[in-house]
Amino acid sequence: MSLRCACWALLWQRLLRLAFISAFTPETGSALHCAPMTNIPLTEITEPAVTCSTCAACCCQLEVMLITDTGVPERFIDNDDWGGEVMLRLDDGWCAALDRNTMMCTIYENRPLICREFEMGDVECLNERKGITTAYR
Ligand code: SF4
Ligand code: SF4
Repeated sequence: MSLRCACWALLWQRLLRLAFISAFTPETGSALHCAPMTNIPLTEITEPAVTCSTCAACCCQLEVMLITDTGVPERFIDNDDWGGEVMLRLDDGWCAALDRNTMMCTIYENRPLICREFEMGDVECLNERKGITTAYR
């Protein structure tokens, strides 16, 4: 190879190396390299508040034993297999005292003790809500 050819070859080699470096070095500002990393702002995802008003009365599908007399009307009382009194439930599992249009208790003032003690937001409540999330209104 002549000296002139060797010089050209060296020049091409350097040019190629420069092109390669500029393509993969973020600081060069070249359009070929990846955009510099920026911090993506985090969006806080908050759980919707647990409240009976956003719940399809999930807990009113549970069996409710009548262990005290709170004045539940007879038509809503059933007997379980052991002769104990329970709230009557319809074929789909919901308590017969539940208003299916409003999903509210129609005997709220006379609801059984167990219903009174079932706490909104408690573990059992959260479990019931999880069970039928698609039924939320
Ligand atoms: S107590 Fe819990 S499960 Fe029962 S209606 Fe209220 S939010 Fe729903
Ligand atoms: S008595 Fe009322 S609160 Fe208790 S399960 Fe029936 S509808 Fe729900």
